[in-house]
Amino acid sequence: MRLSKLASEIVESPTFALNEEARRLRERGEAVINLGIGEPKNKTPISAVIASAARLTRGEVKYVAPDGLPSLKKAVIRYTEENYDHLVAPENVIITNGAKQSLFNILYSVLNPQDEVIVLAPYWVSYQQMIKMCMGIPVVVTPEDGTFTPCFEEIERVVTSATRAIIVNSPNNPSGVIYPPELLEKIVNLCEKKDVFMICDDIYHKLTFDHHKAVPAYHFTKNDIENSHVIVVNGVAKLYGMTGFRVGWVIAPRELVRVMTNVTVQITSGVSPVSQAAAEGALTGVQSMVEALRLQIQNNRDVLLQELSSFNGIHLIEPQGTFYALPDIRAYSQNSMEVSKFLLQKARVVVVPGREFGMEGHIRISFAGSVKDLTEGIERIKWALDPTSPNEIYIGDKRAIRDWL
Ligand code: PMP
Repeated sequence: MRLSKLASEIVESPTFALNEEARRLRERGEAVINLGIGEPKNKTPISAVIASAARLTRGEVKYVAPDGLPSLKKAVIRYTEENYDHLVAPENVIITNGAKQSLFNILYSVLNPQDEVIVLAPYWVSYQQMIKMCMGIPVVVTPEDGTFTPCFEEIERVVTSATRAIIVNSPNNPSGVIYPPELLEKIVNLCEKKDVFMICDDIYHKLTFDHHKAVPAYHFTKNDIENSHVIVVNGVAKLYGMTGFRVGWVIAPRELVRVMTNVTVQITSGVSPVSQAAAEGALTGVQSMVEALRLQIQNNRDVLLQELSSFNGIHLIEPQGTFYALPDIRAYSQNSMEVSKFLLQKARVVVVPGREFGMEGHIRISFAGSVKDLTEGIERIKWALDPTSPNEIYIGDKRAIRDWL
């Protein structure tokens, strides 16, 4: 069979692959704990359920404007004003099938073949694949060993005349770090000077802990939205735990939104109005659940820190936001894929190898789930990795024997 070279080179998502493997094991009756997936366990906010159910009940499920329902755009504009202190027009907003499609659509709309996009390690797995799908070239900037924050001088050094964009994801998946405002300010200035887009993947911007806050990049530009190099991506997936509705959005200059809308018309015709109504319901409904979710996740983070504090071989940079931690496991092994497979096989715990995020020697642990799963998951990881552990334990009703590491 002859298939596209470009498409065939796109690698399988490691998170989805591991989840599949975990599902298969679970179906066989194995007591698998999934610390791999980035998905809060909350129920859909009731305002979202009511709004989408109302749309269904009215039977209003037809094609809608490809750039999004005007009422949802209005809610996004209000959200942007309240949370970013930035006033934008409906023409600056496009609604997409999740933040994932936002990012793809932006890249598709700004890149010519061989254009470069700077990606900051540790990075979210999809960026590089999306850039390649758009025939661009990812240029990775890796931070100094022992940190997860890129060095500005290094970013500046790799900007060339072929650079079209820098993707900035802070709070960061997979490390949970928030980049300091001074770094963001320097990146904004660099992008404006070099005519490069700063694509802010802000999907976790409200999921921050303690006194930490994610300062919007908009704060560092004097340019209005039409002349701004800052593009913002956000959505309801992490904010409201509404991952399955697939609603995200982009705030960008009109010209870019116009091009993105044309692209959308040819590919998806837009987002289902049932999902859009749900997103609007969430954005305009009672917001207390956002804070409740944040507190729950912060509590999970504290449980994780507590559990890992007695784990001598593991070094962790404390997550300041998101629901991920990226512990350094090099005391046990350099090979994060091998360790992840080992943990699934031996301890029946899913984690994601850091190699996939450009951070070999680390594993990503998600603390989005229940405290029970988190506690037991870390206990099992400890058992599997620590050579002083007892040789045997029971996982569910199955006997597990410690070996290898
Ligand atoms: N960006 C980052 C950094 C993410 O972690 C995710 C989801 N895992 C997305 C974008 C995609 O979000 P959505 O589900 O809205 O497509």
